[in-house]
Amino acid sequence: MTTPDISTPTPQDTAAARQQERKFLEGPRARTNELKFLLVVLWEFFRGIRTLHFVGPCVSVFGSARVAPGTPFYEQARALGAGLSRLGFTILTGGGPGLMEAANRGAREAGGLSVGLNILLPQEQAPNPYLDKWLTCRYFFVRKVLLVKYSYAFVIMPGGIGTMDEFFEALTLIQTGKIQDFPVVVVGRAYWAPLTALLEQMAQHHTISARDLNLLTYTDSVEEALAHIERHAVERYKLRTRAKPRRRWWLGE
Ligand code: AMP
Repeated sequence: MTTPDISTPTPQDTAAARQQERKFLEGPRARTNELKFLLVVLWEFFRGIRTLHFVGPCVSVFGSARVAPGTPFYEQARALGAGLSRLGFTILTGGGPGLMEAANRGAREAGGLSVGLNILLPQEQAPNPYLDKWLTCRYFFVRKVLLVKYSYAFVIMPGGIGTMDEFFEALTLIQTGKIQDFPVVVVGRAYWAPLTALLEQMAQHHTISARDLNLLTYTDSVEEALAHIERHAVERYKLRTRAKPRRRWWLGE
């Protein structure tokens, strides 16, 4: 086992984490190994909860790790990060490059709080340089829970498999009532058009309810996305007047 602290991961941490996760997912192992794994997961949740307890209401921005600065989607994500910060939200992302970096960068430039939940990946990766706070997670599933737990809205920028995973995690939790129906804003109508068509087809085949289609708001406009989130998250959940968690010195806070 590697030591639990991976805030500055080494290549050995990354390789060890990958090996442990693979072994865990391969099926039953010795019970002591299963127990050790559970303790590492518990520790990861503990660190996540400690890190995020005081960051205030967040919006998670999901999107491609591969989009370069200066491209239209990057600049949109950056403008969204800035606009959401001005609405009073902390920007929460996967902490990586591309559109995650863009949203964190926008938040930083607008004077908002910018947070990243980075992930240990086989290809070594540093957190993007626009983060005020970050945490490096070993496990995608822990990270996904943390991203959802602290968010009052989700912005889905164009992205690949990682983005789809996070998008549908949030959507499944809303569809099944595990979390409230927080706004899910999907940016890039043309990019997402094939997925929109697939969802409509699902509704026609009754594999989803027609009502589920209303869980998503599609737009190409940063202003429209911000207005929607303001109306459906800030006002509805009374975020401006909501009591903040109190710090307890005896917990080292
Ligand atoms: P993708 O759409 O496949 O580029 O994946 C992007 C999404 O998955 C982001 O919202 C991240 O949370 C997660 N993800 C994928 N790759 C990375 C990475 N290199 N660093 C951090 N997060 C990543």
